[in-house]
Amino acid sequence: MIRVFIPSALYSYTDHAAEVEGRGTTLADVLADLDARYPGIRFRVVDEQDRPREHIRFFVNGELARRIDLPVGPNDEVHVITALSGGSEDDDERPDYAPKELSFCSEHESVQAVDTCALCDRPVCSTCLTTVNGHPACSSCTDRVRTEVSAEQPDATTYPRAIAGGLAGALAGAVVWAAIAIAGNVEVGYVAVLVGFLAGLGVVKLSGKRSQGLQVVAVSCAVVGLVAAKYFTMAHVLIGIGEKDGQHLGYFDPLLFKIFAEVGKEMFGPFDILWIILAVGAAWKAPAPTNLDVERFGG
Ligand SMILES: [Zn+2]
Ligand SMILES: [Zn+2]
Repeated sequence: MIRVFIPSALYSYTDHAAEVEGRGTTLADVLADLDARYPGIRFRVVDEQDRPREHIRFFVNGELARRIDLPVGPNDEVHVITALSGGSEDDDERPDYAPKELSFCSEHESVQAVDTCALCDRPVCSTCLTTVNGHPACSSCTDRVRTEVSAEQPDATTYPRAIAGGLAGALAGAVVWAAIAIAGNVEVGYVAVLVGFLAGLGVVKLSGKRSQGLQVVAVSCAVVGLVAAKYFTMAHVLIGIGEKDGQHLGYFDPLLFKIFAEVGKEMFGPFDILWIILAVGAAWKAPAPTNLDVERFGG
């Protein structure tokens, strides 16, 4: 006798029998025979192309049967498993965030999924389920994210490139800030934020890495850029005054450095301080390491 085990979702067809007798030599025969006695049950488990439906799995003696033309022996056991929500008990046990219609785990053929991976959209069982920064994820996506994040860590070659990138960005921003200040003859403090932003961007682009050490590099480069912008703005004004007196000063004249060292502090007013804080913040944020918080459920 072939024993056919019916999932609770289909009890309404079998007068609440969990196990019924099957007849036939293939799974298709058994299903046709069941349908003769319990009309409509076959259509619930196979589609028009005679394939097991998406949320249904057949097991013959514990082996997953992907097709219904497979043979069934006279003493075999056929389990019909459904991942569809079975009844009120299932609904109570299911976590709130789980989708209403469930499927099988993409990595475990016969295990019911409890959630959908937020990264690849595949169903995940409770064993495979993790949360990555609060989002449900499958094990392969979790591994991939872990690999990506660990690849962010700097190595020996990182710092020279990060410093070069940070300084290039900061000085480009400094030139823009100084040029605007000189051209407009007015301080536009918010351009300082550009210095910090470009410093951070330069560090990330040239090093390709993220870490707290690189955040320190970005902030240091930004400070160099901010001081440089102030220096060039001051130097430009003093060179102009010098010209009138017939004195030719270059941008890197030691006299200008000396003056800047003495009066440079006075060039940073309260508004500058605000913009500098924002600039340093922008530089600090850019190479911040990716926060990865993985929680694993199940075993
Ligand atoms: Zn995934
Ligand atoms: Zn799984």
